[in-house]
Parts: sequence; structure tokens; C-alpha cells
Amino acid sequence: MGIISEGVSYIDLKFRGRPHSIATVIVSGPGYCTLIDPGPTICIDHLEAGLASRGFSVDDLTHVLLTHIHLDHAGATGTLVRRNSDLQVMVHERGARHLVDPTRLLDSAARLYGNQLKNLWGDFLPIPEANITELAGGECIALGSRKLEVAYTPGHASHHVSYFDPSSRVAYVGDTAGVTIAGDYVLPPTPPPDIDLEAWRVSLKQIESWGPESLFITHYGMRTNPKAQLESLRKNIDRFAEKSRQLLEEPGTADERLESFTIWVRNELRREMGEAQAAIYDLSAPLNLLWLGLARYWSKRGIPS
Ligand SMILES: [Zn+2]
Repeated sequence: MGIISEGVSYIDLKFRGRPHSIATVIVSGPGYCTLIDPGPTICIDHLEAGLASRGFSVDDLTHVLLTHIHLDHAGATGTLVRRNSDLQVMVHERGARHLVDPTRLLDSAARLYGNQLKNLWGDFLPIPEANITELAGGECIALGSRKLEVAYTPGHASHHVSYFDPSSRVAYVGDTAGVTIAGDYVLPPTPPPDIDLEAWRVSLKQIESWGPESLFITHYGMRTNPKAQLESLRKNIDRFAEKSRQLLEEPGTADERLESFTIWVRNELRREMGEAQAAIYDLSAPLNLLWLGLARYWSKRGIPS
């Protein structure tokens, strides 16, 4: 358990039994108990235990705020709504229809995870439209006397939003500020299908414009030097984009390129940290998916893979 500010804390969901891979945030106060990104259904026992340790159960939840609908962030939402039909789910308008009917989302995930989809993530249940509030960015969400500002922050996903709590000056940025499991190394999470590096850079400026004192990232936890975090991420987005483009322009098969890229990233991680920590980066942002997302980004810009 980690304390973020008065009434705000986070839980380690112990994804696949490993620490520091996926976190969820609990924001509570008089009359409300809210989760930011409840994580995948496969972790729901850890989620419930974390709620219980703060004196809450699923019945007490009032809202789920989603940064985006990827399975590792939003998977459990439908399961929670089925158990608590009053739950209000907030999500960017481009993600909402995939919560109402997850068929396309799950088809696209099945292309990445094959028949391991359910084993890895658990159920992704549909959510009734009546439980969903669509966000566009620019809203202010009132939770009791607390106000959370919403910004549209695409780049990692086309439907990604971030939340800012001016009372604590913490920004909850999902995957927009990268993946940092250990030390200061910032891995750019670039899975398919809709990586947009230009939009991502604009989103980083948007986050900076809040003047946050800390960033909360799903993978994993509090980053108390936002400037350094975002600078490292920008640098690595540029390097990863350059490396992937180079590989696509050299001769080679799709499999050879994927292998070269993942070896390059793994070597980079191992220069910075031990094997066990590097493995949690790979668990939280699978290296083969980083390649597939970047190759797709370049193919949309006329560089065939
Ligand atoms: Zn994601």
C-alpha cells in the first residue's frame, strides 16, 4: 500500500504474482470511493483485499475513472459494475463504445495474446451504457469537495485521458508518462494499435501545463520529479522511434526485425538494472508489443514493415 495524499492511496495488484507491475488508485472522502484504473479482472482478489484494508468493499465504490481501456487498466471494470450496478464509469468518448460492446477490443487483443487472453487478463465484461459517462477532456469531476481536472492525452492510445488533483498537485497519467518500474529508467509503452508519437508529445506538454508536483503512473507508482520523468520519456520516444525506423529501412524479415528490436531493448534494460527488474518491465510493457506498435506507427506513415 502507498499513500499519495489525504484520502488517496494505491494498491499493488501483484499482476502474475509479481510486485510493482500494475497499480490502482483509491480516492475516497465523505460520500465517495473512486478507483482510477481498477486493473485486469485476473487481479480482482488483490483489488478487493486492498479495498478491505482501507475499510471498503466493491459495494462502497461510487466511480471508476479510466485513463484508457487497455486490459491491464480497465479489464475489471465490467466485473465491478456487475457487482455494483450504481457504479459510474468515466472514460474518453472514443473508448466508451468498446466498453458497451467489447467485441472489437477483445478481437484486437486476441491477435496479440492468442488463446492466452483469458488466462492472462480474466473476463472483460460489457458495461451498460447507463453506467458510462463520456469525457472529451476539459471537464472537472467533482468527488465530494475534491475536484479532478480531465485532459485528453492521446499518444499511447487514441482515447487516453489524464486526471489532475489541484489539491495535492498529483497528476494521474496512466501510461502517458511511460513505464518506470525501478530506478529512473523510462520505457515508452508503444503497443498496437494506435500509437501516435506526435500526439504523445503534445500530451506531455499538456501534462506539464498543469504544473504537477508528482506523476502517478500505472506501471508503477509515484514519480516525484515530473520534469526528469518527462524528459527521459521524450528522449527514449525519439530513440525508440529512430531505432524502429532504422530496422524497417534495413533488409530483413518481420521476425528478424522484431527479434533485433527486442534484443536491443533488453540489452538497454540490462545495462540499467538486474534481470528481475528488467523482467517486470517486460511483463508490464511486453517488448514484442512495443515493436509491433512502432512498426504500425511507421507503416501508417508510409514506411512498410
Ligand atoms: Zn495502455
